[in-house]
This record gives sequence, structure tokens and C-alpha cells, in this order.
Amino acid sequence: MKLSRLVAAVAALGIVSLSHAASPVLVVHGGAGVIKREMSPAREKAIRAALTQALQNGYAQLKAGKTAVDAVSAAITVLEDDPNFNAGKGSVFTHDGKNEMDAAIMDGATLGAGSIAGVHRVKNPILLARAVMEKSQHVMMVGDGAEAFARQEGIVLVDPAYFRTEERWQQLQKALKEDANDEKHSDVETAKHFGTVGAVALDAQGHLAAGTSTGGMTDKRWGRVGDSPIIGAGTYANSGCAVSGTGWGEYYIRTVAAHEICMRVTQMRVPLRRAAAEVINQEIPSMGGNGGAIALDANGTVSMPFNTDGMYRGWIGADGVPHVAIYGDEDDGAAEPLPADAGSSSPP
Ligand code: ASP
Repeated sequence: MKLSRLVAAVAALGIVSLSHAASPVLVVHGGAGVIKREMSPAREKAIRAALTQALQNGYAQLKAGKTAVDAVSAAITVLEDDPNFNAGKGSVFTHDGKNEMDAAIMDGATLGAGSIAGVHRVKNPILLARAVMEKSQHVMMVGDGAEAFARQEGIVLVDPAYFRTEERWQQLQKALKEDANDEKHSDVETAKHFGTVGAVALDAQGHLAAGTSTGGMTDKRWGRVGDSPIIGAGTYANSGCAVSGTGWGEYYIRTVAAHEICMRVTQMRVPLRRAAAEVINQEIPSMGGNGGAIALDANGTVSMPFNTDGMYRGWIGADGVPHVAIYGDEDDGAAEPLPADAGSSSPP
């Protein structure tokens, strides 16, 4: 066993805290789903540019000696501000025509966590989730209460109209028409929830963090909350592993996907890429769900599995060069091949 792996394994047991100097790594995603090469070149360019910017902003934090939590927050706010993603501006609409957002962040070094759900006015939901983690005694806040806390903490609130984009509005209109005609939605489930954003980071102290932000699923009703703000389901980090998921949230909740991956890594000693592939490419699809995840371990190993056509994704490591990929058959430069017995059904 390599020394670094041994140190990480011991740290994961909580016997010692990991404080060796590490080479910072940041990984981001902008959602997994039906991503076809027919996407307009302008849109593809904008998405690649946003992922690159998120990696650069987050990595600048890590290079400046800031924490993994700082890097995750910086990367996610870039994607929340970009209307191409289903988080912050550009969030999907609920059945009632609202943008209703969820987010969570977790600090693997302390197991501190903060999460919010069902907010309508918070410009950057990830920053409110962080405030919940750092400035309250609670882990999760919802709706009006979460917004009252945001006001108290000076988190930027905006008019709900800020989040509206025509494209997301038209997606809702289509879904409503299909509802009215009792038709099955023509967009497969993946398309309805596509575009959630997330980040995982390893800082120079060897600490990990994870964060996720989403508008949830188009046409969602009754205060539906997905996996993204559920600690352990869509977002989880400990001293040896950090995960942010994206996909059909109900399945990520039922498999406690992010926690499941991390437990396999830190408790069962399963290599990160195999653990992530087992959950994302085997367990979730076997139940009928779909999606992807980004995962990072304390050695800086990057894993970006998905069982959909594609996943907006990217990572940046020691050389400071952002690597961004969209399609399933596109080399994202992160991975050596999976071990033959990993059972991965799709790249990377
Ligand atoms: N997982 C999110 C949800 O179910 C959506 C997504 O990741 O695309 O709310």
C-alpha cells in the first residue's frame, strides 16, 4: 500500500487527522442526462466556458491556500449565475410556475454540513447552505425560514423573476400540456431534471469538501425535494471521500448514494473509482434510476461516472489546466481504465 493511501486510510478511520500537504484538486459537474451532439455550437461553447470558469475560480482559492469549502463555494456560484444550468438563475420551474431551489455543502474535515430546500429568492443557494453550516446550530432549513435566516446573515436575495429563463419556462409549458392530455412526458426523466451543478475539492491541507445546487425537476409539485440538499444522498464528504451527485433524485435518496460511495471507500477500502461505478453504474440503474456523480478521494483520485448519454463535467489538478468534457464518448482525461471487475457500464 502506498504511504499516501495508508495515511488516507488511517485518517478515514478518524484515528488521526489528515494534515499532510496535498496537491489541490477540484472537480465540477453541471448535470448528467440526455446530451446529444446536436446541441448548438454556441450553447456547447457557453457550457464549456462556464465549466472552465468554475474550475478556474475554485482552483484559484485552492492555490491561495484557502479551504476545500471555499473552492466548492466559488466554483458553484459561477454555475449558479449561469443560465445554462439548472441551479440559481436558469433553474427549472415547478408545476406552479415557480423556481424552487435546493442546495447543500459538507466539510469533510469536520463533518459539518449545511443545507437548504425550497427557496425562491436566494441568488446563490450554495452560499446560504454554507451559512447554515457555519453560522447556525442546524444542518437543514427550508422555505420561508431559510430565507429569513438568509436575510439575517446578509445573503443576497433577489426578486423571484431573476431566476426565470424562457427556455425553462417553455419546458414547463410542454410538461403541463402533456400532463393535461394525460400523456407521458416526451422528455425522458433525465431531461426533466438535467443541469444540476456540483463540486468536490481537495485542499492543500488534505481536506475534502462537497457541494451541490439545483432547481430540482421541471413540473415538480407539492414541495418535492430531491437528493441534492439531503446530506448523504446527493452530497457527502468525510476525511477520505467527497461526492456530489446529479440525476433522478428519488433514487439517490433511496440508495443514499453519496454516503454509500464514501462508506465503500473509507470503511470497506474499495478504490474510489470502483466504489463510484458500483453505485452509479450498477445500483442506481438496477432500480430504474439514472444520473451521475463526481467523486474525489484524499489521494486526489478523480472519478466522474454516469449512466446517461453525457454529463457536463471537469477537473483541475496539479498542473492547473482545466479539463472539461460533455459527452459520454469524450475523453475527460481524468481516468486510468477501471479495474476489469469494476462492472462499469459506461465511461469514464
Ligand atoms: N438530483 C436533482 C434532483 O432530483 C436533479 C439533477 O441532479 O439533475 O432534484
